[in-house]
Amino acid sequence: MGILIQGGKVVSAAGSFQADVLVEGEKIRAVGAALDASGHKVVDASGMLVLPGGIDVHTHLDMPFGGTVSADDYEWGTRAAAIGGTTTVIDFALQSMGHPMAEAFATWRAKSEGKACIDYGLHMAVTDLGPNDAWLDEVDQMVAQGITSFKIFMAYPNVLMVDDRTIYKLMERTAKLGALVCVHAENGTVIDAIVKEALEAGNTGPLYHALTRPTVAEAEAVHRVVAISELAGRASTYIVHVSCEQAMREVEAARKRGLPVMGETCTQYLVLSIDDDMGKPGFEDAKYVFTPPLRQKQNQQPLWEALRADVLQVVSTDHCPFRFSDQKTLGRGNFTKIPNGGPGIENRMQLVYHHGVNAGRISLERFVEITAEAPAKIFGMYPQKGVLAAGSDADILVWDPKAKYTITAATQSMHTDYSIFEGFEVEGNASHVYSRGELVADRGRFVGRVGRGQYLHRGLPGA
Ligand SMILES: [Zn+2]
Repeated sequence: MGILIQGGKVVSAAGSFQADVLVEGEKIRAVGAALDASGHKVVDASGMLVLPGGIDVHTHLDMPFGGTVSADDYEWGTRAAAIGGTTTVIDFALQSMGHPMAEAFATWRAKSEGKACIDYGLHMAVTDLGPNDAWLDEVDQMVAQGITSFKIFMAYPNVLMVDDRTIYKLMERTAKLGALVCVHAENGTVIDAIVKEALEAGNTGPLYHALTRPTVAEAEAVHRVVAISELAGRASTYIVHVSCEQAMREVEAARKRGLPVMGETCTQYLVLSIDDDMGKPGFEDAKYVFTPPLRQKQNQQPLWEALRADVLQVVSTDHCPFRFSDQKTLGRGNFTKIPNGGPGIENRMQLVYHHGVNAGRISLERFVEITAEAPAKIFGMYPQKGVLAAGSDADILVWDPKAKYTITAATQSMHTDYSIFEGFEVEGNASHVYSRGELVADRGRFVGRVGRGQYLHRGLPGA
């Protein structure tokens, strides 16, 4: 006996059509008009959109940062993801300086084992190539174990930042293998100098986190890393969390030159801004301390336009939650001590749908593409994930386009005591969410089994 999701509108990047979706076990068996219901459990999806489950390729679960650990572990982070309609995440294993990548891989597998509620992959955040670059060979070993994307930081000197030579050597190797390098693009050494000046001038409040990381520092790093990728043999490069127009234009210029450069932005940069959301009294702005910071509102429309025009390919969350009460407050009196990050894994689909599709900025098909299909393709999971087709995993999001919801920390599943989207009203929300054929979320309630999520052995990008 299978599950027949009947009478909904099935959406892919290529188009939308009325169709039934038949699930048998963990897989989709068929997608088509008026499929035979006999012997199957029928789920009425009339009036609903039937979408591939969302894929969030940028999350930080159980992540040590700034002397504390992000507030959602693999269980709570993936529960919140499922409730919001996301059925796959790619998280970051973080190599410690002086330690091999294999150690980070083992550490993050242990964090996720028995806890993840949906399927997950890992990127490897590379901080150290080892003595005489000996650990470059680990890149090959990681690819063999399903880690086909490598993250580097051009920010956070002495903690995570790598120099240009390291980026070049890593990219030479990934270009040869066909793997991907993901880049946190900000000029970390100049930003550190600006930060020091601010602290010396007595500007210690949370707003100064945003004011000491100018857009040009992000754009410069994008420009530089694109040049390094070209020098390294046209290495495939993916710029994470593009937050402003200036940085986006650098991605656009690279793509116009035909380089294999891609980019994502995150929900918060599309709907929040310094103008609307910061400048609050007291220490409240600490809730919005993440990196890159919020930008002037004038950046939002160009980012939406870039998503529409395929200058940017993906919306992710950079979900890295910290409680206000006892974690964000570590930075009272010194904004550099505020743990960087915000909660968002639960709200991405709602906000991108409402402010994208309902607002007429992107089509329904493009919504599916930037939240599921393109992430699956870019990160080597397609067509197992990211599409509703015979043979694909039955990761299915039954979406109610008429459901109204007000985002509030009071009802969220994420383990933070605040929401950066508090009071945002949306129309369109997840109704039923299936992960490999199992119902995991039912109208805002998690109904899956903890620990059922599987590690994804990803293929090479675009393959
Ligand atoms: Zn991040």
